[in-house]
Order: sequence, then C-alpha cells, then structure tokens
Amino acid sequence: MRNEERESSSRVFRFAPSPNGFLHLGHAYSALLNFSLARACGGRFLLRIEDIDKGRARAEFEAAIYEDLAWLGLDWERPVRRQSEHFDDYARALERLDAMGLLYACDCKRSDIAHVAAARADWPRDPDGAPLYPGTCRNKPRRPAREVLAQGGVALRLDMARAVARAGEAVNWRERRPPGSTDAVALVDARPAQWGDVVLARKDTPASYHIAVVVDDALQGVTDVVRGRDLFQATSVHRLLQRLLDLPEPAYLHHDLVVDPSGEKLAKSRGSETLRALRRQGVSAQEVRRLVGV
Ligand code: GLU
Repeated sequence: MRNEERESSSRVFRFAPSPNGFLHLGHAYSALLNFSLARACGGRFLLRIEDIDKGRARAEFEAAIYEDLAWLGLDWERPVRRQSEHFDDYARALERLDAMGLLYACDCKRSDIAHVAAARADWPRDPDGAPLYPGTCRNKPRRPAREVLAQGGVALRLDMARAVARAGEAVNWRERRPPGSTDAVALVDARPAQWGDVVLARKDTPASYHIAVVVDDALQGVTDVVRGRDLFQATSVHRLLQRLLDLPEPAYLHHDLVVDPSGEKLAKSRGSETLRALRRQGVSAQEVRRLVGV
C-alpha cells in the first residue's frame, strides 16, 4: 500500500491549450478532468501554453486562459511553460533526428501535393483527411536541418519509412479508461505510417506540434497525457518520436469530446460558447462543472 501511494503521488498531469481563441466547455472538461485525476492520486497538475504557432497565438487569449481556469477553481504550478520560450529544446531534438538521417528538406507547396493527389481517386489520406505526401523531395540530396530551417519556404519532413525501421520493434501505448470504466488499461498499436512523412519544422514555425509536445512532456516529467479523442491518432506519431529520441513513455487517456446540442464537436474556430460568454450570462463555475460532469 505504501509503495502504491508513493508511486501514485509521483504522477504528473498537464492541460496544454493553444492560445488561439477563448476556452470553451470542451477545454473546461479536459482541464477539470486532468486536475481531478491529479488530485485523486495526490499527483501534480501543470498548465502548458502551446503557443508555437506565432501567427495564431495571441497574448489576449493567453491571459484569458489563466483567468478562465482560475475562475473554474483550478490551480497549477508556476512558472507555466510557454512553448515559444523553448525553441532551443525542440531544435536539439530535431538535430538528433537529423543525425539519424531521418529528416529531409521539402519545398513542395500544398498545391503541388494536392495536384499529385488529385491524379488518383484513391490517393491515401492521413487520419485528418489530408492527402499523404507523395515523397517528391525524399530522395533529393540531404542538407543539414539547421541550414534548411534558415531558409524560408522550406519544411523539414520526417522520412517515415526510415523512422519506423529505425524504431525497431512495433511501438504501442497504454491507453487508460476514464474514471468509472470497468476495464482499466488497453494496449494500442501505434500506426505512425498512416500519417506519411509528417512536417516537423518550418522556418516560421521551427517546431511542429508533434515535436514540441513530446519534448515538453518528457522535460516536464509528464506521466499521464489526458486529452481529447481528436488527438488519438496523433499519439502514433508521438510514440514513434519518443522511441527514436529515447524519451519516457507516458500513459494516455483520450477522453470523449464535449459536443454541442447538434452533436458537433465544440471548436474555437466555430465560435462555440466560450467560458467567458457563459460567465457573462451568469453561469457559475459550479454549473460549468456540472455541465461537463467533472
Ligand atoms: N495544444 C493542443 C490543443 O490545444 C493540445 C495538445 C495536447 O494536449 O497534447 O489542442
């Protein structure tokens, strides 16, 4: 019992929003679930600001995240890690992948890829529905990643076939179930190849979500990644990168998404009811917690 207690209290959870809009009920659910799971096991709860997309991240949204989460009654450790302050960490990870010969420069435009893909009705698509990269630049002479990133308009892609081969034995992950479920943990086989040669960096965004999230989860000692089901398939890429970079393996829990009355996923981009709009309408934090059931 004492061992279990010691083990459970070392668990680390995180809520990692991107400050691209105001938080809505879906975020409230994710943040509250992380917070309550951490509390239940005496673990830690971190907040991370995922602001690598400089074109979309805004200080106003970041300030609103702190305000909305505090209003919900959450408390998190300080200082908060802001991804835009850690590009060096991501560059180091990219250098390691580059040293393994797993990265290449790609100057194809989205329209070039769409053009190739349009030639065949059954062109394979990634889990988000985008056509897989046809590999046009894969066999061009390779250049150091650092040099590529200094040049605008060029992306660094992961050579997926090589990366999978290098990773060796099949990669999988432990998927936990939400509280109250009967079965505790499932082992899921990662299928990173379904994403094709993913982009890991560009000059204007020198780290992709995939690279930043695995580096940060490792550096912050995150043991439990609890996030929405919409990121379930991306976990295949994350597990592959963790294996290649020798990073520890967190457990995952991909929770259901909060849907609006028409059954559609809530999204910032569609202007779904934000927490601040609810607050202005007189909805209390307690009512929000009841609404999302945490
Ligand atoms: N920043 C991502 C988002 O807001 C979440 C990333 C994660 O939890 O791994 O959708």
